[in-house]
Amino acid sequence: MTNWRNVEEQLLGKKKKITIISHRSPDGDSIGSSLAIWHYLKHLGHQAKVVTPDEAPDFLNWLPGFDEIIPFDKINEEATKQLDSSDIIFCLDFNTLSRVGEGMQKVVEANSKAFLINIDHHQEPDSFPHFQLSDTKASSTAELVFEFCEKISGKKWMNLAFAQAVYTGILTDTGSFRFSSTSARTHQIAAELISLGVQPALIHQSVFDSYSADRLKLLGFALNQRLKLYPKFKAAIIALSEKDLQRFNFQRGDTEGLVNFPLSIKSVVMSILITEKDKKIKMSFRSKGDFKVNEIAAKYFNGGGHLNAAGGLSDYNLEQTVKKLEEIMPNYEKDLNA
Ligand code: 5GP
Ligand code: MN
Repeated sequence: MTNWRNVEEQLLGKKKKITIISHRSPDGDSIGSSLAIWHYLKHLGHQAKVVTPDEAPDFLNWLPGFDEIIPFDKINEEATKQLDSSDIIFCLDFNTLSRVGEGMQKVVEANSKAFLINIDHHQEPDSFPHFQLSDTKASSTAELVFEFCEKISGKKWMNLAFAQAVYTGILTDTGSFRFSSTSARTHQIAAELISLGVQPALIHQSVFDSYSADRLKLLGFALNQRLKLYPKFKAAIIALSEKDLQRFNFQRGDTEGLVNFPLSIKSVVMSILITEKDKKIKMSFRSKGDFKVNEIAAKYFNGGGHLNAAGGLSDYNLEQTVKKLEEIMPNYEKDLNA
């Protein structure tokens, strides 16, 4: 499946129609990776478009190319046409096609002539693509996108727009170069991106210092009023209802990163954020050290992810989900206290 020559022929040969897709609720890594590949394909002269299952978060709107992203749920006809007529579909930052959501998955699967290229760093990659670059040790998909482009076309063509997109993907998926997935290679690539003109302080500011006053107040409220600590299990839960979110004029992306805050408490090993949005109960899990939150997400909440960062959807309501977690915690008491 990993036939580089075939991919090179596809990308360096005749000009193609190409779509780049990533998972639902796209994050910094999926948008960074997608736009990086988009800039690369434009350099090669292909006709390329980025299509996301739903809208990309506003905190990334300064990235070159952001305004041309087509959200499948909002601009459905154009997105569907684009996917239907693609020769190649890049599938970035997900390990199984269901991560794009049912509607978009059907459209992708209906295009049987498209060559599917998957670049990703999640565990247990599915065998859906025709070509797969999967490395579960990579800090981010953006890091792999850099290596993918470098392998095929070297580094000379790399421009600032590409570098900014890759840097943003790495920065957001490594929690600013602090998660254990950060390697020497991650820093080497970051150094190359800085040589290409990336200004780390500027990107950091654009990504992290872009809160609205409401978002900061929601963070304060969540930590003050909604944080529940379970010292026996070294765990923390923040549960936010739709009403809580509305009170602070919730905008897409406003809860991004919130799940990490409880981990700054020395004794907390696992942090869980539960949010109620559009009647759906979305869950985010984070952990320190060897504690595997992706197992809990997969076993109980229709989800999955990485060892230290996972997500899922709950079949229960907000209160029941908290109760369910409280029931589950004793099963993990030993591991949480290891
Ligand atoms: P987040 O908490 O930022 O939404 O997600 C953290 C990580 O968990 C993501 O990078 C992704 O790997 C994984 N993840 C989030 N939601 C889901 C889901 O619904 N299913 C699966 N399999 N993984 C998810
Ligand atoms: Mn990622």
